[in-house]
Amino acid sequence: MTEAAPLAELTTLRVGGPAARMVTATTEDELVALARETWEAGGPWLALGGGSNLLVGDEGVPGTVIRIATTGIATRAGDDPHTVRLRVQAGERWDDLVAYAVSRGWSGIEALSGIPGSVGAAPVQNIGAYGQELDAVLVAIDFLAEDADAPRRMTADELELAYRTSVLKQGLRGIVVAVELELHDTSPERDVLGGALGRPIAYPQLANALGVQLGDRVPVEQARAAVLALRASKGMVLDPDDPDTWSAGSFFTNPIVSEHVARTIPSDAPRWYVEPEAPPEVVPLTALDASPLEQFLAHQAEAEASDAASETETAGVDDDVHVKLSAAWLIEHSGIHRGFALPGSRAAVSSKHTLALTNRGGASAEQLVQLARFVRSRVQSEFGIVLEPEPVLVGTEL
Ligand SMILES: Cc1cc2nc3c(=O)[nH]c(=O)nc-3n(C[C@H](O)[C@H](O)[C@H](O)COP(=O)(O)OP(=O)(O)OC[C@H]3O[C@@H](n4cnc5c(N)ncnc54)[C@H](O)[C@@H]3O)c2cc1C
Repeated sequence: MTEAAPLAELTTLRVGGPAARMVTATTEDELVALARETWEAGGPWLALGGGSNLLVGDEGVPGTVIRIATTGIATRAGDDPHTVRLRVQAGERWDDLVAYAVSRGWSGIEALSGIPGSVGAAPVQNIGAYGQELDAVLVAIDFLAEDADAPRRMTADELELAYRTSVLKQGLRGIVVAVELELHDTSPERDVLGGALGRPIAYPQLANALGVQLGDRVPVEQARAAVLALRASKGMVLDPDDPDTWSAGSFFTNPIVSEHVARTIPSDAPRWYVEPEAPPEVVPLTALDASPLEQFLAHQAEAEASDAASETETAGVDDDVHVKLSAAWLIEHSGIHRGFALPGSRAAVSSKHTLALTNRGGASAEQLVQLARFVRSRVQSEFGIVLEPEPVLVGTEL
């Protein structure tokens, strides 16, 4: 047990005051025992993985931080002969898991390469990027509910996974102890050079980078390398020497609004139609370059053609139809540019990616919050849309 541990050292935003108490679990049994002990003692507590989706206030955490450092990957053949099942301890690093799967020719998470953080946190916001999302491969989790004696299995369906959210992010308190995934064993399906072919490429920018068409398949190693390169160009791979990566990734989610509201936004703003009552389709966090977006929009042009003819009409607009807008576009078009900072602040918009708020070194949590509030108020006054933060805020609020 450590006292007064500085959370700034354990979060990728590099802010956050101390925890009153911190415990670290390195085995599954230890994790269950420490969590139960903490809950029996009472008081506030926080599960901590890689700290890459957390904005902790300058006052820190008055209770116990349960740091999850468990490791282990167990594999077995899936029920379908072309699949493999993995049970992964919550403290494993997500990107190590991706590298492990890719090295064996297992497909389904290669486009999620380079996302920081732990495996146990991945279901919390149903991580996604470059045309893949966790819910496509998640089978179940082992979940220790707050005050329960032992973990129980929760299926992916029970988690209500959707665009950057789940019941875990919406308030179901407890600890993800382990995660069960089903991946495609593509190792027998090789290209001419012997690479195992992954899932069809589902994201225009990635297809561009690979020089293939949407829906084509490439070796999983090639997909991983292309994703890592794209992410690095946007400061979306952690780099201790690059303050553009001292962030929580995208700070705001892409807003999902009614078609009626979407029509109040300029027609050149990127938008994606979301099926009513269906989980929104993946909009990768780095989907912000004009050319791939144009391609993506062109892809949708046929479906939108009839709407385009009546762009200014409100008759026939269906408020049950939901439209996802690009938070980055809204921010950029509300006058906030890459690198923007409030006077005297060490918090700034990334110089590579408008959606990432970064610590340029020495920023306080309060400075990050002020920047986030400013960005949000600019977008609200320009477009009437309130952006929602993607990271979990602890001991602070927007
Ligand atoms: C540079 C960068 C790029 C990013 N890119 C992406 C991206 O492309 N796509 C994407 O989806 N996200 C992205 N993120 C966000 C982040 O990496 C993910 O949300 C990741 O899953 C967080 O994992 P973590 O272990 O760091 O979670 P933490 O930050 O430690 O915790 C996040 C939340 O999950 C809870 N939690 C953590 N572990 C557990 C557990 N075992 N059981 C229960 N609750 C738990 C915490 O209490 C907290 O509420 C990015 C972040 C950064 C810094």
